[in-house]
Amino acid sequence: MTVIQNISTQCIHSGEIKDSLGSPSMPLYDTTTFHFHSTAHLLDVIEGNDNGYLYTRYGMNPSIKALESKLAVLDEAEQSLAFCSGMAAISALFLAYGRQDIICIGDVYGGTLQLLTQQLPSLGITVNFVETDKLDKFEILLKEGAGLVFFETPANPTLNVLDIAAISEAVHRYNALLAVDNTFASPVNQKPLVLGADFSLQSATKFLGGHSDLTAGVISGRAEHLNEVDTWRKNLGQTIAPEIAHKLSRSLGTLSLRIARHNENALAIAQYLDGHPFIKKVFYPGLMHSKNHDIAKRQMSGFGGMLSFEVDGTGESATRLVDNLRLFTLAPSLGGVESLVTQPVTTSHHGMSHEQLLHCGITDAMVRLSIGVEGLSDLIDDLEQALDKLKL
Ligand code: PLP
Repeated sequence: MTVIQNISTQCIHSGEIKDSLGSPSMPLYDTTTFHFHSTAHLLDVIEGNDNGYLYTRYGMNPSIKALESKLAVLDEAEQSLAFCSGMAAISALFLAYGRQDIICIGDVYGGTLQLLTQQLPSLGITVNFVETDKLDKFEILLKEGAGLVFFETPANPTLNVLDIAAISEAVHRYNALLAVDNTFASPVNQKPLVLGADFSLQSATKFLGGHSDLTAGVISGRAEHLNEVDTWRKNLGQTIAPEIAHKLSRSLGTLSLRIARHNENALAIAQYLDGHPFIKKVFYPGLMHSKNHDIAKRQMSGFGGMLSFEVDGTGESATRLVDNLRLFTLAPSLGGVESLVTQPVTTSHHGMSHEQLLHCGITDAMVRLSIGVEGLSDLIDDLEQALDKLKL
C-alpha cells in the first residue's frame, strides 16, 4: 500500500474503508451489535484472534475503527481511542493512571481543573500543580514518584506554550508518562507524540469536528499504554457513538484546509490587535515578541486559531466589547468555522476565586477569540466597530 505522507491527503484518505457497493467513503454502521455464524467465530473475535466487530460500546464497530485509524495517522500514533467528549478522554486517562500521583503543569481548561482539584482528590488521587516558571519543583515531584504529567500547550485561555520535548525528556528520566492536551493546536500544527509525549489528547468537539455540531474526544499513543484507558472507556460507557464517529470522520477531510485558514486569519488579527490603542496585551504565540514565540516556532508548524487579549480598561469594558461584536458569536466553545468570542471569567473559568484566576493569569479584562475561516476583512471590520464603541 502507498504510504501517504502529506497531511491533507491523510485527512481525506487515511482510515477510509471503501465498501463493496462502491461508496467513496466509509458508510455509517449505525448498529449496537454484530451477529456471528457460530460460537467458534464469536469466541475468535472476543479472544482477539479475529479482527471482527462485536459490540459498539467496546469500540468494536467499523465506523469507530475507521475514525480511530484516521486519527492515529494524523497523530503519528500506534493507536487512537475515540470518546464521547474531550472530558471523557481526559477523565479516562486520569482514572487509568491516577494510582501514582499526577502532576499538572500550567493553566488548563476549567473542566479539567475542576476534575483535578476537586473530583480526583475525592477519590484519593493525589494531584500536584506546578507553575510554568517553577519547573524545578516539577523534578522534585517526579523524584517523589509521580506517574503521570499533564499539560495543555498552547494553554486555555492564556496561550502559554510549554516545551514538549524538554519536559518529556525530564519525565522519562523518572520513568513517568507525559500526556499533552493538543486541542488548541490540532495535529496539523503540532504533534506531541513526535516531540516525545506518551499521550496526545484532544477535545474533538473543537478543531477536529470544526463545525460546532458534535461532541467527541480522542487519546492517541502506544497500544500498551492505551489498553488500560480502553478498559475504563468501555466500563464507564464513554465510547464515541457511531453516528458521531462518522460525522467526525467526514469533518476531518477538511481539517488541514481549515487549519491553514484559521492560522492565517488568527495571525493577521493578532497583529491588528497588537498595538491597538484600546488593547493592553495580546496573547498569541505567533507574535514575534510573544514570550512563547521561540518554543512555539520550534514545535509548531502553525500557531493556531486561538488568541486572547486584554482590553485597556475594566472587566466592564471587556464585556461591552464582547456585547458589541456582530459577526463574532458570543459562545463558550472554539475551533469551529465561525468566529466565537468569550470572556473567560464569565465562561470557561466562571466561579473561580480571585486568587485562582490570578494564579492562571486570567483577568476580568481578558477576552478570548476563536478565529474562524471567514473573510479576514469582515472579522477585522467587526472588531474595529466594537473597539470604536469603547471610546464613547
Ligand atoms: N481541553 C480543552 C483545551 C478544552 O478547551 C476543552 C473544552 O473546552 C476540553 C478539553 C473539554 O472538551 P469537551 O467539551 O469536548 O469535553
